[in-house]
Amino acid sequence: MDAIGRLVHFGALLKQPICAPAARDALKYLRATGRPVLSANAAQANLKISGRSIASVSTYGCQAEHCGRATKLGRPRFTASPASLIFVQRETPFEPHPRSTPSCIPRRTFASTSSSRCSTIIPSSIMADRDILPATVKPSHYALSISALDFNSWTYHGKVTIDAEVTEPTKEIIINTLELKLAAAKITVTQNKSSQTYETTSFSYNERKQRATLVFADEIPASQQTSLEITFEGILNNDMAGFYRSKYKPVVPAAKSVPRDEDFHYMFSTQFESCDARRAFPCFDEPRLKATFDFEIEIPDDQVVLSNMPVKSTTPTVQGRQMVAFERTPVMSTYLLAWAVGDFEYVEAFTERRYNGKQIPVRVYTTRGLKEQGRWALEHAPKTIDLFSESFGIDYPLPKSDLLAVHEFTHGAMENWGLVTYRTTAVLFDPKTSDAQFKRRIAYVVAHELAHQWFGNLVTMDWWDELWLNESFATWAGWYAVDQFHPDWQVWATFLTDGMESAFALDSIRASHPIHVPVKDALDVNQIFDAISYLKGCSTLRMLVNHLGTKDFLKGVAIYLNKHAYGNAKTEALWAGLAESSGVDVDALMGNWIKKIGFPMLTVAEEPGQITVKQSRFLSTGDVKPEEDETVWWVPLGLQGKAGTQDVQTIALTAKEDTIRDVDNDFYKLNHNGTGFYRTNYPPARLAKLGSQLDKLTVDDKTSIIGSAAALARSGYGTTPALLSFLESFSGETSQVVWAQALDSLNAVKSIFNDDGAIKAGLEKFTLKLINDAVETVGWEPKGDEGFLVGLLRKRLLLSAVANNHPNSLDKGAQLFDTWSKDGTGLNPSLRSVVYRAGVKTDPAKAFDVLKKEWATSTSPDGKDFALAAVGHIRDENLINNKVIPFLFNMSSDSVASADMHSLGAVLSGNSAARPLLWKFFQDNYDLATKKMANPIVLDRFIRVTLNKFTDAKYLDEIDAFFRGKDTSAFDRTLEQVKDVVRGRAAYRQRDAAAIKEWLAANQYIS
Ligand SMILES: [Zn+2]
Repeated sequence: MDAIGRLVHFGALLKQPICAPAARDALKYLRATGRPVLSANAAQANLKISGRSIASVSTYGCQAEHCGRATKLGRPRFTASPASLIFVQRETPFEPHPRSTPSCIPRRTFASTSSSRCSTIIPSSIMADRDILPATVKPSHYALSISALDFNSWTYHGKVTIDAEVTEPTKEIIINTLELKLAAAKITVTQNKSSQTYETTSFSYNERKQRATLVFADEIPASQQTSLEITFEGILNNDMAGFYRSKYKPVVPAAKSVPRDEDFHYMFSTQFESCDARRAFPCFDEPRLKATFDFEIEIPDDQVVLSNMPVKSTTPTVQGRQMVAFERTPVMSTYLLAWAVGDFEYVEAFTERRYNGKQIPVRVYTTRGLKEQGRWALEHAPKTIDLFSESFGIDYPLPKSDLLAVHEFTHGAMENWGLVTYRTTAVLFDPKTSDAQFKRRIAYVVAHELAHQWFGNLVTMDWWDELWLNESFATWAGWYAVDQFHPDWQVWATFLTDGMESAFALDSIRASHPIHVPVKDALDVNQIFDAISYLKGCSTLRMLVNHLGTKDFLKGVAIYLNKHAYGNAKTEALWAGLAESSGVDVDALMGNWIKKIGFPMLTVAEEPGQITVKQSRFLSTGDVKPEEDETVWWVPLGLQGKAGTQDVQTIALTAKEDTIRDVDNDFYKLNHNGTGFYRTNYPPARLAKLGSQLDKLTVDDKTSIIGSAAALARSGYGTTPALLSFLESFSGETSQVVWAQALDSLNAVKSIFNDDGAIKAGLEKFTLKLINDAVETVGWEPKGDEGFLVGLLRKRLLLSAVANNHPNSLDKGAQLFDTWSKDGTGLNPSLRSVVYRAGVKTDPAKAFDVLKKEWATSTSPDGKDFALAAVGHIRDENLINNKVIPFLFNMSSDSVASADMHSLGAVLSGNSAARPLLWKFFQDNYDLATKKMANPIVLDRFIRVTLNKFTDAKYLDEIDAFFRGKDTSAFDRTLEQVKDVVRGRAAYRQRDAAAIKEWLAANQYIS
């Protein structure tokens, strides 16, 4: 028996869940001793212990039915299992814990049921079991009917009939529900052509698990043909999950029946991923339990309803209402079902390719008056469908494709099959008022969601632990499509700065997680919709694509999709498809990238004519321990500079260390075009030399090398002076992507040392000298057909100029702000961030009022975003406390919507004057904040972007003290991550302050 086999479940042995405080204690111990813990704060922790200690634990551990701690105090001793990553050894007795204060209090509201859910402690080395529904019932088809939408009480009636197989005799059926009132249920069983109906006698709810048990008086026999019918009542909530309402201000008069109040009109749509289909109707809500769906809904007859499939029939019901039924969906997972009701209009185009002889209609839907803003998305969606149909070797499977702009939305978009829903800024573009950067975002998000129509919808991950498979692929395919349509946009180089750097940042802290992460409870999956699942996953896929070649990669994808169409699959199945197409053992190359935490840094040592390359795990704190550094990754070296050839060598490092001979002493580089997911640590003299050989480097190379140099400086493997010296060589740069990376890196340094007046002034001077010529060259006025990236470069350089107090730019910006605030003219929409910033710097009080008005009245799709970001830069403490923070947190109609709170929150916390004020307000008004951010995804994101900017270790204690005793289960992983980030920032500040000052003085940036 192996070590893991000897482990037993604490909870299971006790026949009781372990209480949350006990789990927390255990957890604290694990963290204090540096043991990796993936998820915390559990009321149902699976603490793994060795068999020997069972007796003492069962005597002294949690035995109470609810959340009691030990009934007798004792000295429980959990002993270690040598091979497991998790163990607890306690010498002190548990503190008694009153039974009346369980930390998981299920309540029947959105906020509490979601945020009080209990996660599970899972050692990263062990694939935990899945906590899933019993296998007794296997659904195959749903007929769902929704009626009586009530716009006063925000409720509706529903009836669902589920065809299913009952695999063994049972007296109860367990099904997922949340916030639904079940009225009646019956099951009709057909056997040997005769049918019998069983009525339910009672329902019981497990709120925490979001399940209902339907209890029957008689035993239901096993049968392949049963039909379960449930009637229920649901809520049209306003928390952006389930079937929910979105408020908006109409731009033209709306249809008569549209619900409205003094401030807003309302539209309705669904958001079911990951676990919220159960919030709209009772269902077996797991990705593996695929079924077909017939959907119908009764709506006011002057409104429009959309669903996954085209409309089948429309039948009048009561006065002014009609029942609209849709064609049957293909077999699919519950989280992909969708519908929307509102005062919608659309623009339409068709695919060029024919599918079963027909071109597929593609429509962008908006609320009335906005449809023309859907044109840019519409330009891309049909050709993306054609591209993917060809690239993936399988036709788009549905008869239509709709895109819908939703006014309140948690994420960027959701890939519902045939009806993709979007945050407005991810799909709407107005050439007269939008910032040009949204062209790229929209083209990308549209392609990302369309990629899911195959990858995710047609072939679905087996369980949520494979989330990465969906998201990484869609991210890769999204950029792949944009690159095909707009090769001049250099999107893969941009991915280095916008995508890969975020993945590096998260993956270089201890609290990161492997790409493939165990998910026992589906309710825990929210927290892994993060930079690892999307961006590290995409980066590693891209590394693989670069190795296999795009053609073989896509061929392998086609094999995978065709083999598993309408089914579910795991990572290994994709590897098998790729192995078949390429003949490469993909699993061997990718295994550690997917299963292990972190990524390598390559340290290069030079000798004449050869280099030695050593891989070791990179941590931003620079303090990796031997036991954290055991992974040997497959690292494609992308070496250019082998003596006698210009070619890039396709050699890979597959050991900890290796020596490469015949290397050109004058010029060589590793990681060609930055396609490898690793940092390169050159000897200082080599980095300096590369700074003098920029003509030999591609845009991608320069971007990648700057990124590495900055990360090495932050972690202490390199130095900030080395980074600054290297950056000095870029003053003649012309590439927008390279500038973006250089200025990002510089900003990251500034954000650490912003409260040190001398360093701040020195870095400002440094920045202005660096960008001066480029700012002059690019100017304020667009020049004819200058290209997409030049426009972005202008914005980036001018923003940096204004932020660093470049006198001419600041004057010009302030003047433009003044004119615009008077008559609303003279503003290039792509330079709003620059002009707003100048306005805020010059007269913050006036700028706040002007920008708040702009936020309230702007008709530009991105108008709110830019106004919010700009007011986040206000540094006047009175204004921050009395205007900006209330604007962010108030619940009134003239304050920031919860879906947008992270936009302002992130900028405020990056502002050293506002950061402590924001933190204080958040602590003092936590109830208000969590009430406003009732959706756990919104709260988790807000915490992630606002608590990670501190540069003093004292805040770690403050964060701990504040959250002690609070239920943090909805963001426990995030909390550990932000603390790790703060640790790194604090260490950096302490380590490098003197050296930076010295360098700035020696180079005349500080007088
Ligand atoms: Zn996605």
